[in-house]
Amino acid sequence: MYTIKSYVFPESLEEADELLRRDCRSSAILGGCCWLKMGHRRIRWAIDLTRLGLDQIEVKDGWLELGASVTLHQLETHPDVTSRFDGILGESVSHIVGVPFRNCATVGGSVFSRFGFSDLTCALLALDATVVLYRGGEVPLAQFMATPISFDDILLKVRIRDDGRRAAYQSARRSSTDFPTMAVAVSCLDGRWTVSVGARPARAVRSEQAARCLNDGLGAAAAGQAAAEELTYGTDLRAGADYRRKLAAVLVRRAAEQCMEENKG
Ligand SMILES: Cc1cc2nc3c(=O)[nH]c(=O)nc-3n(C[C@H](O)[C@H](O)[C@H](O)COP(=O)(O)OP(=O)(O)OC[C@H]3O[C@@H](n4cnc5c(N)ncnc54)[C@H](O)[C@@H]3O)c2cc1C
Repeated sequence: MYTIKSYVFPESLEEADELLRRDCRSSAILGGCCWLKMGHRRIRWAIDLTRLGLDQIEVKDGWLELGASVTLHQLETHPDVTSRFDGILGESVSHIVGVPFRNCATVGGSVFSRFGFSDLTCALLALDATVVLYRGGEVPLAQFMATPISFDDILLKVRIRDDGRRAAYQSARRSSTDFPTMAVAVSCLDGRWTVSVGARPARAVRSEQAARCLNDGLGAAAAGQAAAEELTYGTDLRAGADYRRKLAAVLVRRAAEQCMEENKG
């Protein structure tokens, strides 16, 4: 459990940033605190964003925007999210612990942390999402995912182009609410495919070779094989690297087949 010296509700983003800058190492931006609670940090300034209006889900100017304080459960229930991308954002988080937990955990905390096991970042990567940072501006999620974590910025929102693409999400878990052993998301827009693979157990990345197989019409099985061969897989307490490689081939195939079915419908 963490300890907090000063708990602050900034009234503006400028104030939140100023508090964070006082000492990035001992300050913490708070999401739902679901992950923070698991550690033993001593936090000097706990910066609660809940008064800054970042809990909005909006569709505007051709983009779906998810504020940093939007909860994971909102992704499962909000019609603007569930009606898009074949509902993969809600599907991707639906196995995380339980509904009371997902009513606390936020999009901001989930994406900023860039966990290797993150279901949400895997799904967002296949949708070509971007993140909007207070200081860093808007950057593609793929670029953000490749950057080491430093706690010196505030994630304000995630943006996804509302382009009507079809998508599918697949994960394998040792039990229904465990961390994923492997996570895969695919999307298809006008015949152009995007494939992402997460919980390798390293962070989610795209498989360009798998996408190329699908773009070239070589089929879902070939795409699965390409993802297995192209990416690196590791061993942890959930699975060995070889098993993960095999899982990647199966899940990419399944997700691509599911997306092809959706495209027919
Ligand atoms: C038991 C357990 C099981 C889990 N299982 C899964 C799972 O199966 N799949 C999965 O994907 N995830 C899983 N998670 C991760 C869970 O989804 C995370 O706890 C959650 O994503 C963190 O969100 P939060 O809002 O609680 O973040 P917090 O705990 O509040 O914050 C996490 C980190 O992000 C920083 N932060 C938060 N918001 C922002 C922001 N807007 N800008 C900058 N920095 C910010 C915080 O300072 C902190 O360092 C699990 C977690 C737990 C505890």
